[in-house]
Amino acid sequence: MSETLRLVQLGSTADYSIQKLARRLSERLIDYKIEISEPLETPKMAFDSTRNQYHSTRILATLEEYAESTGADHVLGVAHFDLFVPGMNFVFGEARCPGSAAVISTYRLKTNHDGPPDLLGKRSVKEAVHEIGHMLGLKHCSSASCVMHFSERLADTDRKEENFCSACERTVKLVEIE
Ligand SMILES: [Zn+2]
Ligand SMILES: [Zn+2]
Repeated sequence: MSETLRLVQLGSTADYSIQKLARRLSERLIDYKIEISEPLETPKMAFDSTRNQYHSTRILATLEEYAESTGADHVLGVAHFDLFVPGMNFVFGEARCPGSAAVISTYRLKTNHDGPPDLLGKRSVKEAVHEIGHMLGLKHCSSASCVMHFSERLADTDRKEENFCSACERTVKLVEIE
């Protein structure tokens, strides 16, 4: 039986359509049943007013409960607001590794200048696949073109492909067989 991955928009607005993201993820993660949930309210309890950002680890706790209560194997939250973890200026996303909850933010994936078409879409897919990889137990990969390479800045994200490298792909398959 295939595992369920539930996508859920956080808050009432989105920079990139969750339907489009779901469609693109389903082309890449063919072993997963991808569903879209109704948007959840912006998680106010994760807001840090001194930083004007949201603490992503607190959002993960909420999404874990949500996964549990809805019976989803994995939940990916998609936020339009800025995320952080203590000790870093911002994060593009965070995930339990391995686990049932992950979150990405499109806040820093947007560009103000003219970039190639679909840049926001490509970046969103990469960050989503990256955090899904963590939920499946993958750690960061040293290959700069692998989607599991750590993105410290947008240039890292733009350099990566939307896929796992062959080594990461093998690891994911091993996890599935276990
Ligand atoms: Zn990561
Ligand atoms: Zn890799």
